[in-house]
Amino acid sequence: MKPLLLATGNEHKYKEFLKILPETICFSMVSPEVAFGPEDEETYFRNALLKARACLPAPGKWVLADDSGLEVEALEGRPGILSARFAGVGASSLMNCQALVRELKEVPPEKRAARFRCVLTVIDGDSGGLVATSQGTVEGRLTKGLLGEQGFGYDPLFIPDGYQVTFGILPSEVKNRISHRAKALRHLLDALAPLGKNP
Ligand code: IMP
Repeated sequence: MKPLLLATGNEHKYKEFLKILPETICFSMVSPEVAFGPEDEETYFRNALLKARACLPAPGKWVLADDSGLEVEALEGRPGILSARFAGVGASSLMNCQALVRELKEVPPEKRAARFRCVLTVIDGDSGGLVATSQGTVEGRLTKGLLGEQGFGYDPLFIPDGYQVTFGILPSEVKNRISHRAKALRHLLDALAPLGKNP
């Protein structure tokens, strides 16, 4: 197993990966100079590949990329892969959350189900070939207003099943144990394990 390079400019995602990954895994974030183009593919998988490929060449490393989003049942799965720009290109997390709150204003509690989905890809930093891919989801429901300041993105609106408060309120240790990202990462490590030990 080669050292992992995380293909993201999102500091929040980096911190989550850092906390979720075992300490034995050699892991770093890509240089801030890497330019990630628009994520205009039609699936999480292809968007993740786009991000990973933006970091090539990465000699001697495996490049890990994450594409994720929120799927709202009352909106037939939207915003999904468009989650980062639900309120428009360049929208902040707050603007996206507020747009979602507005759109779901009339939706009753029993119809506010949603899930986060995370798809991970690992490509070889030398050849660009796909090494492994995985995904994880976490089911929950959406509140009527923003609650809490932990996490990022839609966390203040999302109450995971089995809990009474949002990811914005739950301690990060809880999110990092049950989240879509944590599950995808566990599956990914299972897929990478047979390929050898991280130096
Ligand atoms: P990406 O960077 O294209 O994968 O965008 C993912 C978007 O989905 C983020 O900008 C967030 O709005 C949302 N998202 C993905 N994962 C999470 C999460 O763990 N918490 C809250 N929002 C998330």
